[in-house]
Amino acid sequence: MDICVTKKLNATTQLTIKFDGERDLKEALLKATPFIQLHGVCGLCGKDNVELRARQTPDGQYIYIEQVCLDCGAQQTFGEYKAPKGAFYLKKWQKFVPKQHGEKL
Ligand SMILES: [Zn+2]
Repeated sequence: MDICVTKKLNATTQLTIKFDGERDLKEALLKATPFIQLHGVCGLCGKDNVELRARQTPDGQYIYIEQVCLDCGAQQTFGEYKAPKGAFYLKKWQKFVPKQHGEKL
């Protein structure tokens, strides 16, 4: 079972992700769900100037995937389930607080 999710994130970015290595349809849908839920709109200010990005901590231990609003700086982070690997869920939009937990932008 293949599931393809194509999302237009903003004026310059479109994302297509294929889920084809999953055990079954449930697992494929679980992995596809957070991407299906991306609406390209900031959850705080409602503007559509958002960007999807990934960054990692300087020690390379953690990788964060998040949507960032380029207008108000709000962020929506992807949480990761322990299993199956590569399954995410969307956390709530949050006002950006610089230097949280020593993270760098
Ligand atoms: Zn915003």
